[in-house]
Amino acid sequence: MISDMSWADGSFVRYDEMTLSPATHSLSYGSSVFEGIRSYGGNIFKLDDHLDRLRRSADVFGHTVPYSNADLADACYELLRVNELSDAYLKCLVFYDDSDVSFRAQGCSSRVVVFALPFPANSAPANYRLATAMWRRAPASCHPYQAKTSSTYALSYLSYRQKADGYDDVIFLSTTGTVCESSGSNVFFIKGDALLTPTTELALAGITRKVIIDELSPQLGVSVTERNISYAELESFDGAFLCGTAMEITRIACIDEIHYEAAPLADVLATEYQCLTNKKSAL
Ligand code: PMP
Repeated sequence: MISDMSWADGSFVRYDEMTLSPATHSLSYGSSVFEGIRSYGGNIFKLDDHLDRLRRSADVFGHTVPYSNADLADACYELLRVNELSDAYLKCLVFYDDSDVSFRAQGCSSRVVVFALPFPANSAPANYRLATAMWRRAPASCHPYQAKTSSTYALSYLSYRQKADGYDDVIFLSTTGTVCESSGSNVFFIKGDALLTPTTELALAGITRKVIIDELSPQLGVSVTERNISYAELESFDGAFLCGTAMEITRIACIDEIHYEAAPLADVLATEYQCLTNKKSAL
């Protein structure tokens, strides 16, 4: 359940007293951008990276965010404090108000809201069964994948809703049949001692993905290759996993009819990731 207090446009407000006009631009036109952020034991994991990405996403949509990253970081920590949250999920949203009912957003102001909820640490599921999404990812020239925008999630929602029974999530393919990502996390494949992951051309540049590439893999002496991965190649891999702020590192049991054994490397990475999230910040 969402905690009692939220932060909206510079002030703390009761969540149940917040109102939103039905003419809010971002409701109709998919112009909001957001971050999903985790706190572990009161330490917010990779907060700077999330706020940097929020600002980059906001720039893509022309939002003006009248707060510095330090202001937003303070708001996030204060929100944890006033709600007495320790292990939590924070959602930070930037969206256009209701000043223009047309798609043009002329005269609209950007609103910034943060709300939080308790979220148990390291509670990722053990493994996931994935089905290919019935919708394909449009080419990069057709969608701003570099932004974490609500408009990306229309297809996540539709595909999730339309997936066959017995599957936990969907995996998106491009129009040329390469693997992109799941509805809400990045994907990695294991081949021997090495990792492969799709490029971020048609996937979000995930912060967990970056932690795996820049921190965990070098620490474990594992190589990572970022390249296009075709659906036909999926049978040749020894294992696979999803990664994301909410999913952490979750093993993939199957993609459609392709089954993956439990790969020790995925387990080691999952454990190392948990250690990292639970490490006290140096501050
Ligand atoms: N792809 C999508 C579509 C997502 O929603 C997420 C979750 N934010 C990710 C990838 C993983 O990103 P991160 O590791 O930054 O949470």
